[in-house]
Amino acid sequence: MITTVNPATGEELDHYEELDGAGIEARLDRASRAFRSWRTSALPERTRVLTRLGELFTECEEELALLATCEMGKPITQARSEVRKCADLFAYLAEHGPAMLEAEEWSLSDGGRAEGRWLPLGPVLAVMPWNFPYWQVARFLGPTILAGNVGLLKHASLVQGVAARLEELVEAAGAPTGVFQNLCITSRPVAGILGDDRIVAATLTGSEGAGRSVAEEAGKHLKKVVLELGGSDPFIVMPSADLDQAVKDAVTARIQNAGQSCICGKRTIVHADIYGAFAERFVTAMKAIVPADPLDEKTEIGPLSSVSQRDTVLDQVEQAKAEGCTVLFGAEAIDRPGAWMTPGLLTDVEPGSITGSEEIFGPVGQLYRAADRDEALRIANAIPFGLGSAVWTRDPDEQEFFARGIEAGMTTFNAVNGSRIEAPFGGIKRSGHGRELSRFGLHEFMNLKTIIHPGETAQ
Ligand code: NAP
Repeated sequence: MITTVNPATGEELDHYEELDGAGIEARLDRASRAFRSWRTSALPERTRVLTRLGELFTECEEELALLATCEMGKPITQARSEVRKCADLFAYLAEHGPAMLEAEEWSLSDGGRAEGRWLPLGPVLAVMPWNFPYWQVARFLGPTILAGNVGLLKHASLVQGVAARLEELVEAAGAPTGVFQNLCITSRPVAGILGDDRIVAATLTGSEGAGRSVAEEAGKHLKKVVLELGGSDPFIVMPSADLDQAVKDAVTARIQNAGQSCICGKRTIVHADIYGAFAERFVTAMKAIVPADPLDEKTEIGPLSSVSQRDTVLDQVEQAKAEGCTVLFGAEAIDRPGAWMTPGLLTDVEPGSITGSEEIFGPVGQLYRAADRDEALRIANAIPFGLGSAVWTRDPDEQEFFARGIEAGMTTFNAVNGSRIEAPFGGIKRSGHGRELSRFGLHEFMNLKTIIHPGETAQ
């Protein structure tokens, strides 16, 4: 039995019966049978499902947002934005997806031609996290429907209500039975499912440890895997930045979703010329953030997703102290039922230390001073991750320097780094491999089949 808990109150929300072996087998069989017909479905049939799914997300926005807020604690306004972003993605894919599936053609030296056709691959397993419980799944689900694949979701245990609702919505959007199924399981049966011949590939969004297990298992069975793992993004502020806006966005980057976002500035790196002015405003603004009821429209930060997640962050703060870091303020548990803590800020973090290298998945920032752009880049790259990054500079030369120099899958200038429905998203180093979104994400789980029509001189 999987029990969901409201992290704002500590109260149990619901209980979900875990699938046993026979239940998993039935779903694998259904997925395999569904693929046989869905793989040849006409493109307009798939885009109709996507269009309707987008409409359903819009129609159900309030209900879906409330469910996410109750299960993992994100402020209701942020939950609504997440649901809207999913609706936008499904509508975007319905409109622009067919163009991404157009065949390519090449002329051959023998006078013939080669054609590249994008064909579906089969049933894909998606292991997903709780932090953006709709959006992370949507990035897999939309392309799955468009490609003619079928999907099996193993969602995070914390958000089983969201997982069940997602399956219902896809069915209500008109997808044939078995095209998208929820597997109500913990992580234990995942290895066995990956080894099943009916599963052709897997995608995982989550921590490094989970990524490692899934990649190992997929590797053993020679199955393709896309990994979207953790990060500790730099947020670099250079002297030409709009300081007020940079401070505001540095706070947003660190506290949105209670700091539980894979991207978004976890390490704020400020040029020495503006360090004093920036630090004073940043500290004042961060201190003013008070955790409150996530259902309140004005709340900027609620609880963390679970008590164990909160305790992991507090342990990391203790580790930081042991390494000689300074806790400028906050980063303490709040004594009330649920997963509450105050935002906090660390300084004197040594780049390359445990604290400087680990991802802190909660509202605790790190503030660094850099003498010049070279040092800012060195600090930015002194981590094993390479997911996102944000740089505040209006100098085009500096923009080019950081665009080329930061070891990450993504750099955003003068704004909070975030995924865009139209652009590729993914990481390098230990942040994973592969891409989601755009045609690059769509093609990850497709067979680019080469069809040769030889020319006359070929024989
Ligand atoms: P997590 O503990 O790794 O869980 C993610 C998913 O993996 C859950 O469904 C979890 O199931 C499952 N899982 C855990 N261990 C597993 C194993 N050994 N084998 C198979 N499945 C396993 O991560 P999380 O705490 O939910 O999410 C936070 C992490 O995700 C952070 O590191 C964050 O940076 C990363 N993330 C990355 C992106 C990206 O796009 N790169 C986006 C969002 C989050 P249970 O819940 O049942 O344990």
